[in-house]
Amino acid sequence: MRVALDALIVIESLQLNNCGRYFYLELYKLTIVEALGLISKHELTPTDLLESVFNRITALDTSVKAYVTVTKDIAAEQAGRLSMLNRTPLYGIPMAIKDNMCIKGVRTTCSSKILENFIPPYESTVTGKLQEAGYCLTGKTNLDEFAMGSSTENSGFFTTKNPWDLSRAPGGSSGGSAAVVAADMCVAAIGSDTGGSIRQPASFCGVVGLKPTYGLVSRFGLVAFASSLDQIGPITKTVEDAAIVLNVIAGGDRRDSTSAHIAIPDYTASLSSDLKGMKIGIPEEYFIDGMDKEVETAVRAAISEIERLGAEVISIKLPHTAYAVAAYYIIATSEASSNLARYDGVKYGLRVSGSDLIDTYMETRAKGFGQEVKRRIMLGTYALSSGYYDAYYKKAQQVRTLIKRDFDEAFKVVDVIATPTSPTTAFKIGEKADDPLQMYLSDIFTISVNLAGIPAISIPCGFDSGGLPVGLQLIGRHFGEAEILKAAHAYERAAGWYQRRPSI
Ligand code: GLN
Repeated sequence: MRVALDALIVIESLQLNNCGRYFYLELYKLTIVEALGLISKHELTPTDLLESVFNRITALDTSVKAYVTVTKDIAAEQAGRLSMLNRTPLYGIPMAIKDNMCIKGVRTTCSSKILENFIPPYESTVTGKLQEAGYCLTGKTNLDEFAMGSSTENSGFFTTKNPWDLSRAPGGSSGGSAAVVAADMCVAAIGSDTGGSIRQPASFCGVVGLKPTYGLVSRFGLVAFASSLDQIGPITKTVEDAAIVLNVIAGGDRRDSTSAHIAIPDYTASLSSDLKGMKIGIPEEYFIDGMDKEVETAVRAAISEIERLGAEVISIKLPHTAYAVAAYYIIATSEASSNLARYDGVKYGLRVSGSDLIDTYMETRAKGFGQEVKRRIMLGTYALSSGYYDAYYKKAQQVRTLIKRDFDEAFKVVDVIATPTSPTTAFKIGEKADDPLQMYLSDIFTISVNLAGIPAISIPCGFDSGGLPVGLQLIGRHFGEAEILKAAHAYERAAGWYQRRPSI
């Protein structure tokens, strides 16, 4: 594995402590590449790194409120089991997991009252792989209840704050995972993305977020929201860190019948600083009226920089983009209404006993689910009901095919598509909470990617005049992760935005 120059810079700021070992006062700031570099030279121990990260959590999480559960004892136990002889790809790396992924014996709430005390008896494939790769679990992060939302304000417990400005939303639904990475309360995190829930919070929090191709990463043990759209992916401080995590979590799984059994490349191998020969498409439909001017300026400047690195920029069309949000909210809510039928007070979590079985179902669901979840169950049940199915669900699936075809056509001409991740920077907490339609529009640029099942990454590409991060989205063809990681890495290194951190 390549040790980036950054690690050397960090080493320069190390100090010799009185035991003769180097220590770094702000170890929690390290990236995966930097931490692994220091650990392999015996200049850092996983235990010292964990101590620094947990001190950071103690100092900051009372104000950021990103963790639902902190797992200090589990991390210590995992660090104790690591053997210096058997170096693994995430050896001793402190990582946080969105609280909709099951970890055996660790409370998994989906930020919902209905699962508040649910302790899964089994492990998700992704966390199992991270465990084998040597990660140390810092905790489970907050989300919009069942991953339905764009701000974490729909969490059944509390709202997470954006580390760049505590009065603003961190995005959602993986707002907790994006906030813990931005605030250095872990070295890397895992999120899930059904319509933008990795990329939009990564954009709002100034970090890297990757939604892989549908099927590249197993969904086994991910609590289902909309099964044909859900994907798990990394949220990290740099693109190279995202590639390292993807190396670990990608791959077919017999426990997820929708996972793809393909050869997984080493995603770090294709990273370079040269984009010669790469064709980047710019879809005119993604630069819309009503989009924040400062976002547009930052994204256009990033595209010029990518051109300067050798890529050829080509204007393209994705004509069915305007229908994506409507189609998504029919398909996602339909699947959600079916997936969430299992929470009945009998099999999982909360039970509110009623006068008979039906009454128990109703009482449990009435008390256990929040407003947005109920809204979506009703919408989805309506769209699937006989007489309406053809008009709504079937139509939405047809639109989905058209959207996928738009991308297929575009990728005959270009290798990567560049767009803004979100039309605005982080909005104020409360600003959109009472207007679900406004909230739904914050994913207008991310949703088509899930409908088409293709991969996309969000990386920081500048700041607005209020000092809030702007995100650039790079979209790839099916299983084209290596290409988008390459473009993202080259841009990240040339532009250097990743070096700017929130002063929290
Ligand atoms: N914000 C979108 C929604 O509310 C996407 C959520 C997600 O990707 N999990 O459905």
